[in-house]
Amino acid sequence: MLSAHTAEGEVPVPRPARHRYGAPMRALILHGPDDLRLQQVPRPEPGAGEIVVAIDAALTCATDAKTLVRGGHPSLGPLPAAFGHEGTGIVAATGAGVSGVAVGDAVAVANSAPCGSCEWCRAGREGLCSGITYLSGTYAEYLLVPASIVAVNVVPRPAGLVASLAALAEPVACGVRAAERSSARPGDSVVVLGGGLQGQVIGMVLARRGCEVVLCDPHRDRRELALRMGVQRVADAPRDAAGIARVRELTPGGLGAHATVAAVGAVGVWEAAAALTRAGGEVNFHGGPAPDAILGIPAARLHYQEITLQASYHHTPGTFRRALAMIDADRDLFGALIGPEIGLEQVAASLAAHGPKRIVRPGPCGDG
Ligand SMILES: [Zn+2]
Ligand SMILES: [Zn+2]
Repeated sequence: MLSAHTAEGEVPVPRPARHRYGAPMRALILHGPDDLRLQQVPRPEPGAGEIVVAIDAALTCATDAKTLVRGGHPSLGPLPAAFGHEGTGIVAATGAGVSGVAVGDAVAVANSAPCGSCEWCRAGREGLCSGITYLSGTYAEYLLVPASIVAVNVVPRPAGLVASLAALAEPVACGVRAAERSSARPGDSVVVLGGGLQGQVIGMVLARRGCEVVLCDPHRDRRELALRMGVQRVADAPRDAAGIARVRELTPGGLGAHATVAAVGAVGVWEAAAALTRAGGEVNFHGGPAPDAILGIPAARLHYQEITLQASYHHTPGTFRRALAMIDADRDLFGALIGPEIGLEQVAASLAAHGPKRIVRPGPCGDG
């Protein structure tokens, strides 16, 4: 019998040997705005090139909270749709022609795969791939992983890394991607607005690069976490012109940051980020805004101060792997980004409460 992957604080996972095609499993299915249902659905069966993963840890995400309110997301496709995009588990079944991964392997599964051949993939911007395959459905006992993702974005879990930390690879990869988009150099001043997981990761990566990072967030616990993650300074989030002036005073000469990152998908935060950027500096907009949101930035500043605007979205196979390695190298630090465990039945309430990131245990479905 295959032994379940267990570690301190982790519960046993469903054993791959128990995988039975067509048997029912529990899964959260999104039907519309604020309509998330825990349902019994058939267990998936892998086709050629596909694998089925028994999920031992999924994670809640602010993107899922937004998607639940809005009743959709560009990556989700038509409703009803399987929900949840951060997860990891044990390979329970493999389809014909699958190589490099076998039943019983512990794997981290990214929620997308680029085609590898389009204009954007060839330019190293795989998140923009015109033929990207998205994957959703980690809030379930089993996840069917399409062949395109099996081919490029199923990565072995590092030995001894607990499932909940391996499931962090996807969101951390997005933050790594945002930080890698930044042209900030060692010694440059950086302001990160937002101390959620994305802001924490971006602040950490840029501080490790040698930048002087100020992270702003209204919550004290997030500011304290940012200092643990390695940023040099923290401040309250600027809410108005006076708040922006206060943060600006924390940058060299009070001139604003060489690079700012808006790690929240809210227009007001994006405008504050632009206002905090010094002449010749760069703003990175990160975090998904509402579809109808319109940004208002004084056009004259862009011209007369040569402000560069850029954005970052999603991740790449490279950042997914780098994120997993970063997490593995700093397990305690990244563990601080995750809140306590919940079951599938608590996911909707947890997302609605906009609480901390939670570990979701879909658990064995109790069929012996
Ligand atoms: Zn996410
Ligand atoms: Zn592509």
